[in-house]
Amino acid sequence: MVGDPVTEARRLAPRFAARAGASDRDGGFPVDDFADLRAAGLFGLMVPAALGGAGAGFRTYAETAYELARGNGATALVFNMHASVTGALGAVTPELAEALGLPDEAIAARDGYLRAAAAGSWYAVAMSERGAGSRLSQLSTVYEPVDGGYHLKGSKTFCSGAGHADAYLVAARSVTDQAVVSQFLVPAGDGLTVEPTWDALGMRATGSHDLHVDATVPQGALLGGVEGLALVVAQLMPHWMVASYAAVYVGVAQSAVDAAVAHVRERRLTGLPAVRARIGRADAAVAAARLAVFEAARRVDEAPGDPETNQWVWRAKLLAGTTAAEVAASMLEAAGTSAMRRGHPLERLYRDARAGSLQPATSDVCADWLGVEALGGDPDSDGSAPRW
Ligand SMILES: Cc1cc2nc3c(=O)[nH]c(=O)nc-3n(C[C@H](O)[C@H](O)[C@H](O)COP(=O)(O)OP(=O)(O)OC[C@H]3O[C@@H](n4cnc5c(N)ncnc54)[C@H](O)[C@@H]3O)c2cc1C
Repeated sequence: MVGDPVTEARRLAPRFAARAGASDRDGGFPVDDFADLRAAGLFGLMVPAALGGAGAGFRTYAETAYELARGNGATALVFNMHASVTGALGAVTPELAEALGLPDEAIAARDGYLRAAAAGSWYAVAMSERGAGSRLSQLSTVYEPVDGGYHLKGSKTFCSGAGHADAYLVAARSVTDQAVVSQFLVPAGDGLTVEPTWDALGMRATGSHDLHVDATVPQGALLGGVEGLALVVAQLMPHWMVASYAAVYVGVAQSAVDAAVAHVRERRLTGLPAVRARIGRADAAVAAARLAVFEAARRVDEAPGDPETNQWVWRAKLLAGTTAAEVAASMLEAAGTSAMRRGHPLERLYRDARAGSLQPATSDVCADWLGVEALGGDPDSDGSAPRW
């Protein structure tokens, strides 16, 4: 790591902001932002210090992601995928490995992936599928054991950073037992084909294309070294599955407030009470969502997996997603029609912010989880459909 991660992220944000409009317009991947992230050592953010990384906790991740998103939400969102992979891998302590019965060879392979991340490799997530979304229990991608490893076959969608990452976390079900869902780290190259399908309303620069997988990987690519861990990890570390995007969308929301402030100053609209009140309400809403996200992150560091921590994790995702969409819409209205022109920052931020509630856990799913919890049920198993 070159310096303090949050300070580094603050330094990079204006560089990202300067490039954000062009990559949004063309739907091009922000390769220069990723070169900056690599040079700053941020791919090692979640890698334990013993393996060459910054050894950051979830709170530091959340603050870093928030600052990056103030520059470009799309860049921060792709970075979130890498942080989720390295964060979950790095969080496997010797005690947890022992409790889950993980073999030593799997821990050695894990250490290799984390060392590579600290040295500048970055990982994408290929979990979602057309028809199944991110519901792990419904995936159609399958794997089977072959000599020396596994063969994986299937098609993924919404894979942010497809074609640019060094390796992909691929979730798949066992051919022999469809209830067994495992995750593999598949290196870029042979066996992976990117189909450029991502031309979306918002987060256009994430390059979230389809990815077709027909690859054979060595034994060490099975994360954890034991089959069937994917659903266990989702339950054990909901912060990476549910809430890591939250900081990104609060950063996008803050950017919308900043862009509106700049616009109304420039247009000399600051004396209008309705405009001022919109900005005031947005300021308070973003501050509240940020507090909730940072509180959830603090609790993840102090008591990971604790029922109250998990409650904050789901609250944080819900508040961040809805706040981003509402604030960006209100800021556009405060700024007026001239901010709706293509190329205006608020026009992009309005579209980017819209994606927050749609990313799993969607705002509706978060609200359901919290409602079941508040009513005394078991929110992980009493939903109207399986959570994962
Ligand atoms: C910008 C962006 C980047 C992304 N990047 C990645 C990535 O890098 N890797 C990746 O794997 N995926 C990625 N995704 C995909 C995302 O994580 C989801 O998998 C995807 O959005 C879900 O797909 P879906 O359209 O089938 O919707 P679903 O999640 O299936 O939702 C459809 C509807 O069903 C509801 N619903 C879903 N589940 C439940 C439930 N359990 N109970 C009740 N209601 C439910 C939802 O609220 C919604 O109304 C990205 C998505 C976006 C928007």
